[in-house]
Amino acid sequence: MRIGFIRVICYSVTFPPEADPPSADAILTITFMIFDILTIFPNAFDSYLNESLVKRALKNKIISVRAHNLRDFLRGKKERVDDRPFGGGPGMALKIEPIFRAVQLLNSKFEIRNSKLKQRIILFSTRGKKLDAKVAKRLSKYDRLILICGRYEGVDERVAQHVADEEISIGDYVLSGGELPALVLMETVSRFLPGFLGKYESLEEVKGSYPVYTRPEVFQANGKWQMANGNKRKTRWAVPKVLLSGNHKDISEWRRRI
Ligand code: SAH
Repeated sequence: MRIGFIRVICYSVTFPPEADPPSADAILTITFMIFDILTIFPNAFDSYLNESLVKRALKNKIISVRAHNLRDFLRGKKERVDDRPFGGGPGMALKIEPIFRAVQLLNSKFEIRNSKLKQRIILFSTRGKKLDAKVAKRLSKYDRLILICGRYEGVDERVAQHVADEEISIGDYVLSGGELPALVLMETVSRFLPGFLGKYESLEEVKGSYPVYTRPEVFQANGKWQMANGNKRKTRWAVPKVLLSGNHKDISEWRRRI
C-alpha cells in the first residue's frame, strides 16, 4: 500500500471527455493511476464510470480513465480497424496499425519519458494470464495502464508479440470484446489504490470473505414463500445468534470458520 505517498503526475484529462476543460490548477493533478483504454466502443464505459465508488475516485482524481476510439487513429477514408484473418476462417480481426499509432501517441505524450513513472500495456485475450487479486495488486503499482480491448475474432497477434507487455484473461469464458474485462480490471486494480475504498480494512482481498447480515434480526414476510420444489413455507429467517452477541472474539472465530 502506498498510503501517505503521493505521486504528482502532470496530466490534465479526466473522464468524462466532454466535461469542462481542465482549469489551470487541474493540470497538476494528484492521480494514483491513469487508465488509457483503446477500444472501438468508447461509449460502452460511460454509464459504469458514472456510478458509485468509481465515480467518486474519478472526481477525487484518485484515478483517471480515458477511453480512446481506435477509429480516431485511422489514416484516410479507406483504412479500417478490422480485416479478414490470413489463412481464412470466420470473422474479422482488429488490425495492428490503429493500435500501434494510439500507443505511440500515448507514449509520446505521457510524462513517463522523463521520470520514474511506470506503465504497463495490457492486451485482453482469452489466452492471457488469469486476472486475480494478486495480479491486480501487482498492476496497482504502476502509474498508468494502457488497456487494449479486442473485438471480433481477436487482435492481430503482433500486438501481443510486440506492443503489449502482457495478455490478461478475466476468466475461462468468451466475451464479445475487451470492454467488460477493462472495467473489471480497472475496478479491481483501483481497490488497491489509497482512497478508493473508505478504509483499507474494507478490502475483502485483505480481510477475507464472509457472509454478512443486516437488520432485521428476523425476517418474516406476510404470506408464504414458495420454494423451488413448489412447497410453501412460512418465513422466519433469523441472523446467526453469534453476530448479535457483541462478543468480538466469537464473531471473528465464526467469520473465519464459515
Ligand atoms: N476467437 C477469439 C474470441 C475473441 S473474443 C478467441 O477464442 O480467443 C474478442 C475479444 O474479446 C478478445 O480479443 C479479447 O480482447 C476479449 N475477450 C473475450 N473474452 C475475454 C476474457 N475472458 N478475458 C479477457 N478478454 C476477453
